[in-house]
Amino acid sequence: MAADYDELRSDVKETQNSTLEAVKSVSAPDPRSVVSELDVDESGESGSMPGGEFVAEELTVQVIPQGEDEFVCQSCFLVRHRSQKALEKDGLAYCRDCEG
Ligand SMILES: [Zn+2]
Repeated sequence: MAADYDELRSDVKETQNSTLEAVKSVSAPDPRSVVSELDVDESGESGSMPGGEFVAEELTVQVIPQGEDEFVCQSCFLVRHRSQKALEKDGLAYCRDCEG
């Protein structure tokens, strides 16, 4: 009778050990899945606020305020008044500071 109990206990121990190993391998990726869920929530909140993109486009259009009496020097890339143009060659203008 006693021998039968020992065999049952050994079987239970092996089953518990294999179960613990299975639990460890399964519980390992849990933190990663939690982090991925948080990332999804954050991206969803930022995606529902498209106001910033319109402001950026308007600023990009107004970066170069070049008027009819102004030109962009191809050497220093500054917007100069036409009176400061010292040389224009092949459609490229240069200011007095760069050509003088
Ligand atoms: Zn220049």
